[in-house]
Amino acid sequence: MSQVFSDLKTVEYGTPGHPEAPFRVKESHARLCAAGHRLETPPNIATAADVALLHGPKHFERVSGGGFLDADTPAFDGIADIALISLSGALCAAASAVQGAPAFSLMRPPGHHAGKDSVRGFCYFNNLALSCAKLQAEKKAAKIAILDIDVHHGDGTDELMTKRAGVMFCSLHQVPLYPGSGLKSHDNCLNIPLPPGTGEAAYLKEVEKSLESLLAFKPEVLAVSAGFDTYKEDPIAQLKLEKGSYRRLGDMIAQTKLKRFAVLEGGYAPDLPILIENFLAGFFG
Ligand SMILES: [Zn+2]
Repeated sequence: MSQVFSDLKTVEYGTPGHPEAPFRVKESHARLCAAGHRLETPPNIATAADVALLHGPKHFERVSGGGFLDADTPAFDGIADIALISLSGALCAAASAVQGAPAFSLMRPPGHHAGKDSVRGFCYFNNLALSCAKLQAEKKAAKIAILDIDVHHGDGTDELMTKRAGVMFCSLHQVPLYPGSGLKSHDNCLNIPLPPGTGEAAYLKEVEKSLESLLAFKPEVLAVSAGFDTYKEDPIAQLKLEKGSYRRLGDMIAQTKLKRFAVLEGGYAPDLPILIENFLAGFFG
């Protein structure tokens, strides 16, 4: 049994014209419901202590205190509470995965650019990295592989997971592009830069190699930072994946047979709901 965690409270912030907009969750939520997925509003379980599993001691306070955070990542009213709801979805998805039910967290804000002491790139708390840290802290999984398929380098996750025992991180991303990092692999972080214009065949070949590397690490769980801004019509990047590419991508991940969960990161084209539906058709197996 697969599970989607989503909470429509996470559509209640935004700035007109900002690509990380409420429609991303609102319309995807409606589409997945119509497609027959089980959507559950998760209990709001995330706490400041969860945020402190990886972020610095002042990070939660800084986000909840408002003030100027980052030009892309402003201090919306109540953003800390909304970011905790988003983190709750990721924590519930991770818990579901270890119990054998693949899960997806359909929430915003995303998380993979959030570093130890930094908010950036529309991200406040690193939902996926924190979920992995919590699985380890609760001894629900000792070895976790992270696959980041957002078009941007998962610089926050890279920073938080570098040299962390029991974690292998792999990010495929367009270069050159924001945030400008991830040009080389290092330590336990496999960084795969891809040129603008990369299409489905070349992209999926790199995913296949990445999954082989992650499987060789013998993880118990596969955590996916699921960005959909690799799509050919995405307004802020230049890769060329098609709608059907996401079904194939989900299939490839499901074929690992690993316990798995995915968390929404980027993806800004109006077709985002279709891309997510296609991905889950494969990912849930
Ligand atoms: Zn992105």
